[in-house]
Amino acid sequence: MEHVAQTARLSAADVQARFDVLVSAAACGIVVTDAAGCVQLFNLMCERQFGHAAADIVGKNIATLLADPPPPEEILRSGTGDTVLPREMVGRRKDGSAFPILLSMGAGTLDGTSLFVGYIQDITAQKEAENAIREREERLRSVFETGPDAIIIIDEMGRIESLNAAAVWLFGYLENEVLGQNVKMLMPPPYRDRHDGYLSHYRTTAEKRVIGIGRVVMGLRRDGSTFPMELNIGEIQIGERRLFTGFIRDITEREGAARRLQDLQAELVHVSRLTAMGQMSSALAHELNQPLTAASNYVKAARRTLDQGVEQTRPKVQELLDKAAGQTLRAGQIIRRLRDFVEKREDNRAREDANNVMEEAIALAFVGASDSGVTVSTKFEENLPQVLIDKIQIQQVVLNLVRNALEAMAGRDRRELRLATAPEGGAFVRVSVSDTGPGLSEEVASKLFQPFVTTKSEGMGIGLSICRSIVEAHGGKMTATPNPDSGVTFSFQLPVARDGGEEAA
Ligand code: ADP
Repeated sequence: MEHVAQTARLSAADVQARFDVLVSAAACGIVVTDAAGCVQLFNLMCERQFGHAAADIVGKNIATLLADPPPPEEILRSGTGDTVLPREMVGRRKDGSAFPILLSMGAGTLDGTSLFVGYIQDITAQKEAENAIREREERLRSVFETGPDAIIIIDEMGRIESLNAAAVWLFGYLENEVLGQNVKMLMPPPYRDRHDGYLSHYRTTAEKRVIGIGRVVMGLRRDGSTFPMELNIGEIQIGERRLFTGFIRDITEREGAARRLQDLQAELVHVSRLTAMGQMSSALAHELNQPLTAASNYVKAARRTLDQGVEQTRPKVQELLDKAAGQTLRAGQIIRRLRDFVEKREDNRAREDANNVMEEAIALAFVGASDSGVTVSTKFEENLPQVLIDKIQIQQVVLNLVRNALEAMAGRDRRELRLATAPEGGAFVRVSVSDTGPGLSEEVASKLFQPFVTTKSEGMGIGLSICRSIVEAHGGKMTATPNPDSGVTFSFQLPVARDGGEEAA
């Protein structure tokens, strides 16, 4: 009320002055036209925006301010009516240059004649920002689309949100066959069965098991074939939504895989050298201890014999025999020390999840064996206790067993690899690798774990003996049993890590 009263007291000249200030101080361009679009008012901001002096524009049609203007009626209708929708147009400056504007028209009447008021915003900066974002998006999209790695983006529930051309190609699906589906469809067991668990574990605990850590896992193509791949997972938080980006590289034949295998092989050589030494010394100890003990006994007996007669040779024989006995005992000591030394070899034991260790080893075993046509099935017991193992060594064992199984099944009709983990009596976790190969001949079976037993032209015959040494060094046993239908099951035990207690080295 006060406001109205005050305004009412103002003179016409005051009102005009206030109106002028209002219009010229407005932070947006204001242009007033009659019903035909003829400009009656052109404010200061408009002068700045268009580079025209108001005097040059007043009396001209509003269309002069636009590049490619639509008919004046249409311009005036922009944003009029019930819903005021600002309209994007292209303004034209006095110097002819064009710039993007947002025009909102308002309609009114003054003294019985229609008036149109246009509010003009220069949206050059906004457009530039939009373009920059679009450009960046396009650039990212082109990286996403044309990069060599397969990229799959999933939501928190594992549903595939998007995937790039490389992923489509790698897995052999059409894009619309996988969009919205659970990503586990691209994984063979055991990875498939465990994936939902990984996601829900992460949702509830935020404990990062795979994010930011590269892993080797198996992928499953549309045609049912599997391949080893290197998987790196990143996390994206968009507001409340969390997405995961998987970067996938097929490592079937890749350099990276070769390097990784080389690393493992170097480890294997190292391990085998140590285990060979271990084996050698154990064998030596076993072989030599008996005769040495016997020799020492014979010598002692000889000495006793001499005690009963042959007076003249006694002192000399006694002295020699004492020396001999001393030497044989010393030989025994040397062997014992050598064995102790080898048994105390470096061993990097840590608490591990047997299933995770298996998963990675299996994928590595398949490197270079992509078209093996083998179906892999697994029976991994969840909630296994952790095991205390040297992961690299145990992966060598699994890798060896899987490779042997694949080789045994090559060329056969039925090629099924079955892997399992299960708790065994509280102290152990049992791991088994089973195949549908021809099985073991009686001859091989009787000396299977001995070094240099092989039926392969290129075979060294040391794989299984090393495997057994590794397993035994872990306190377990390794066995091979024929399957009822066909093939062999190799199985071994891993020691369960005791609660709280660390290394039992
Ligand atoms: P290599 O593989 O170099 O021969 P290993 O010690 O690993 O050495 O294996 C010894 C032998 O045991 C093989 O040559 C093969 O005859 C036999 N063998 C191993 N695993 C299997 C299996 N899964 N099925 C049939 N035979 C096997």
